[in-house]
This record gives sequence, C-alpha cells and structure tokens, in this order.
Amino acid sequence: MRSRFVDRDAAAMVNRYAEAGVNSDLALRVYTTRLIGQDPKLVLHGGGNTSVKTRLRDLLGEETEVLCVKGSGRDMAQIEPSGLPALRLDGLCKLRAFEALADEELVRIQRANLLDPMAPNPSVETLLHAFIPHKFVDHSHSTAILSLIDQPNASELCAEVYQDRLGIVPYVLPGFGLAKKSAAVFDAGPKVEGLILSKHGIFTFGATARESYERMIEMVSLAEARMKRGRRAVFATAQLPQRLAPLAEVAPILRGACSLKDFTVEGAWRRLIFEFRSDPAILDFVNGAEVARYSQAGVVTPDHTIRTKNWPLVVAAPVDGKIADFKNAAQAAAQTFMANYKKYFERNNARFNGAKQSLDPLPRVILVPGLGLFGLGRAKKEACVAADLAEAGIETITGAESIGRFESISEFEMFECEYWPLEQARLGTRVEQPLGGQIAVITGAGSGIGAATAKAFASAGAEVALLDIDGNAAEARAREIGDTALAVTCDVRETKSVGAAFDKVVEAFGGVDIVVSNAGAAWQGRIGEVDEALLRKSFELNFFAHQRVAQAAVKVMLAQGTGGCLLFNVSKQAINPGPNFGPYGLPKAATLFLMRQYALDYGAEGIRANAVNADRVRSGLMTDEFVAERSKARGLSEKEYMSGNLLGREVTAEDVAQAFLAQALALKTTADVTTVDGGNIAAALR
Ligand SMILES: [Zn+2]
Repeated sequence: MRSRFVDRDAAAMVNRYAEAGVNSDLALRVYTTRLIGQDPKLVLHGGGNTSVKTRLRDLLGEETEVLCVKGSGRDMAQIEPSGLPALRLDGLCKLRAFEALADEELVRIQRANLLDPMAPNPSVETLLHAFIPHKFVDHSHSTAILSLIDQPNASELCAEVYQDRLGIVPYVLPGFGLAKKSAAVFDAGPKVEGLILSKHGIFTFGATARESYERMIEMVSLAEARMKRGRRAVFATAQLPQRLAPLAEVAPILRGACSLKDFTVEGAWRRLIFEFRSDPAILDFVNGAEVARYSQAGVVTPDHTIRTKNWPLVVAAPVDGKIADFKNAAQAAAQTFMANYKKYFERNNARFNGAKQSLDPLPRVILVPGLGLFGLGRAKKEACVAADLAEAGIETITGAESIGRFESISEFEMFECEYWPLEQARLGTRVEQPLGGQIAVITGAGSGIGAATAKAFASAGAEVALLDIDGNAAEARAREIGDTALAVTCDVRETKSVGAAFDKVVEAFGGVDIVVSNAGAAWQGRIGEVDEALLRKSFELNFFAHQRVAQAAVKVMLAQGTGGCLLFNVSKQAINPGPNFGPYGLPKAATLFLMRQYALDYGAEGIRANAVNADRVRSGLMTDEFVAERSKARGLSEKEYMSGNLLGREVTAEDVAQAFLAQALALKTTADVTTVDGGNIAAALR
C-alpha cells in the first residue's frame, strides 16, 4: 500500500476550506480522512475514525482547546468538516480519572462537551482519541492488519513485524473501557507510533496529518509484506459437482428459505433483498474443503456483526438438474441457522438477565460453493453493505489462514457488540416501509402508467425493475428513481426476452414478489371487417404477453414459496367496449379472465392476482396529439374531453399507479378489478 498524500492537493484543500472559515488543522484532517476512507482495504461503510486536536472558537466566541473527531457512523470517504464535531478537550480528559462509565452516561457527557449542541453524535471511540496526546490520530480496520492480528499468536506476529513500534491493547468492547485500557498501554510505552487493538484494528498517531496517515500506510504495508510470505494456495478445494445450477434458479430458492412469516398479519412475510458477488478470491473461499470451519469462526472486526451477523449461512453446492434436492437442503440449512441464532441469543441474553430484544434470526450473508456469496438486507443498499463486508471478511480470513489460523473474538464478545445499543445506533432509526424487502417488476415502465407505477412502488420501499422495449426510456426512468432501480430492455412479445429479463431481475435482487403487467398498445378497426393479422398482433401484445410475463413471475414465486402478487392493466375496454375498439378490447377482456384464472389456480400458494381498469389516461396509447384530435372532433376543450366523467376530473397515470399500489398492499384481496376512470356507469362492474 502506497501513501496517496500529495502536498499540492493538501494545500489546495487548506485554501479551499480557509474561504469557508475552516482552520488548516481541520482542513488537513478532512484531507487525510478521505484518503483513508476511499480505500476499501482500510475502512468500509462508516468503520474507522480520525481526529485532530486544535483550537476553535465556541459559540460565545472564546477560543477553546478542542478534539474534532469523526461523527458516529459517518463515511470517511466523503467527510466534510461538519462530519468531525468539536468537543472540549479538557472536559473529555477529566474522564480519565473515572473508574467506570455506563454507555448512556458516556454519550451524555460527550454531547455535553460538544461546542455546537446541534452537531452529530461523536464516534463511540472519541475518548480513546482524547486520551492519546498526539495532535492527529487515525484509526482503521485494515484487512491486512486484521489478517495479522486475528490469530491465536497475534502478539508474536506483531512483535516480529513491528518490534516495539506499536503498543498492543487486548480486546475490549469499544467505549470507555477500551479508551482507558488503550491510554494505559500508551502511557507504558509513550514512544509508540500507534496501537494495535486486538481482534479489532489499528490506531496510528503523529504531530501532523501526513505523519499519522503515512504511519498507517507503513504499518499496513508491513502487514501486507508479511502476508506475502505466507503459503501460496490457502484453501484445498472441495469436490464440486460437474455442472452447477444457474444463479437465476438458485437465488429465489435461497430468498424463500431466508424469509420469515410475519405472524402479526396473515399473508405477510419478512423478506430480504439479495446482492450476489463472485470472483476468484470469493470462489477459493467458498469452495474450500474446510469452509465449514473458517467461515464459522466469527467476525473479523467487531463492528461487522451488526451488518453481517457473526456467521454466514453455508449451503450445499447446487447441482444442475437436481434443484429440488438443493431446495430441500437449503431450507433445512436456513432453518438450522435460525434455530442456532435463537439459541445463541438466549444463551447470551441470559448473561444480561434477559434485558435484550432479539433481532430477526435471518442470515445476512450466504455462501454457495461453486457460485459465490450473497449479501442480504432489507433494501438493496443494505445488501450491498453486507456483501462488501463479507468480501472484506474473506480477504482477511484468507490472509490470516495463509500465515496461520484465523481466530475471532469469543461468542459472548460478539453478542455484546451485536446487541450494544451504541453499535445499533450507528444503523440509524429505520422506518419500515409498506413494501420494504419486496421486489417489483413493471412492464412498459419507460413512460406513462408504467413509469408512474415504478415510481410509486419505489416510494413505498420496493426495489423496482423497469422493463420496456425502449431500453433508453427504461434507463432514464430508473435513474430518476434512484441508484438501485434496475432498467431492463424487454420485448414482452418474445418468450426468450421475457425469460432473460426475469433472470436479470432475479440475479440483481434475488427474486420477484410483485409484477405489474402493464405494457400494451391499442389498435382499432370495425370487428366485422378487421384484418385478422391485426387482431392477432393485438392478441400477441394485449393477451399473450400478459400470460408470458405472469408465467415467468409465477415460476420465481413458486421457487420462493412466499406468495406474490400479479397485477394487470386491463383498461376500460375489457368491460365496456368502445365502437371500433374490438382489436384492443377483445384481448384485454381475455386478460381480465386471465387474471381470474391466476387468482383461482394460485390462491392456495398465496399468489394474488388483480387488475386495474383505467380509462382516458394520457400515455403512450393516448398521446397528446390523439387527445387534441379527439377533443376537437367532439367540439370539446382538451380539459373537458379528459374530464368527461361523473366526477368531472382528469385521471392521471399517478392515479392508476396508486390503484396498483393499493392492490399490492391488500393482502386479503384477489381476483379484484379496481376502476380508475373518474366514474363511468356503463363501465362500472356489477
Ligand atoms: Zn474501530
């Protein structure tokens, strides 16, 4: 690992922040904090922290000695000066005399010492930074350092690599105890350039931002060099099947196995979103003959436990053509995982007199020999965090096993960390969303009703896949929704195209829970004279495509075994034919009955089927030109034409989207048609 400190960049940052009234100590602290934060081999997702001791004016204008330390859970890669709240240093240093301090008290005292009472909560490792006298202090969870120190003989290895340049602090849960212990180790050898926190990470310090940062880089480089002298092939490979089942077949089975019935609402499930990863390093690890040992040895650093749990779920390799066997084995493995988690919770909660509340017992990482790993989370972003940490864990354990044997903290220490309120607080207060953990596929999502529906479902917490024959339009709508929305080019008239699109969705998110089959187009013609080819063309898109999409969805839903929801756009024509609209209305009427057939055939599996009957909505079918022409022909203004219904209100794509959303949420409703047309008695269902 090389230093990325560039004098010119550092000076530019000092100048830039000077204009905003930020002093050079803090500007340089921001600069090297970002250098560390941008390297995933040093820190990931809010891990690690840094500080600087400087002088700042308090709110009354008096200059004060302060510690600027990273805010809890902040991402170092994009830190700003406001992400390093300032605390009165003398107030913090007085705590050194305390014998013990409860976490809640510590948080209160830290907040009481903030210069700005509105500042974010400072890091849980604030006191450790305060007790070290050096001006700059840097802390990382470097994978190479962890490989070296997550070992039974870590002290000897550290002595060999660092001689006495680093002090060694035995493992203690972060907080007051760790700060006291670290300060004592420092005082016993005040010439050290940093501290190793056993089974946790490394601190370095210095008089300047550069010195402290470059000591971090040097210590990590020494650990990397030691690893290079390890064994070459770390893991002996297990016997794997000749042909493996594809990812798109495996993921929904695992997702179903790792879902929980929500017993508070009949028909509801607690589901997770998946993120798949695979590369040679991951495969070496998951394919190892001893994966059951080293993967179950615990976390590589304590703060991973809140995102990955202490252990991944390991399943058998999926043999191609024997997917039913894989399903049985995976379900059994997931059940065992959850049962073990409950036992782990009860065993350790007893030591807290039963005071803790259990988190859900579902795994957050799954290892699949032959394929790779999955990160799991309530949303795609959380799943990606779990996958990133799992990859860092694999790198650490692979390094550790190359020079010795990986060893983690004890089970109780992991529990203490997982259920530590300060650690849980780093996840922030999470609001459960109505479609949280669900995956929705919307066809014809590039514009109109489909686009509005994708947006509405994403706002309700679902991960959305936008399918459209116009890939660019789908991509543009997806980017409007956010980073995790997936755009897929799909021609719903082609079985292959639909199959490939569903594979893509399943590979990206792990499965499918809701489908809004919306793509369609209108053709006209007096039915007695209409060209048969045109009628067949309309049936292909307005009936068979719905069947094709529903069939692909049901296949995934049955593999998951957690029910699902099929929603069809049937339009008013399915109920109340308009003159010369036979070519459009007839296949739509068939689609309405298709919905009922799905409701009948798959109700027992918890798969619901519903439809929306909308009318006169501006869209790809009802273009602005079409509206202008039609209203003119009837001698009406566009507004009068569009609101020609009982309520006298124009129906929008958003109104239709809300109807689909309501159907997706109505767990006791199936075979329903919801009318969204502003009121039209002739089209009313009876
Ligand atoms: Zn740490």
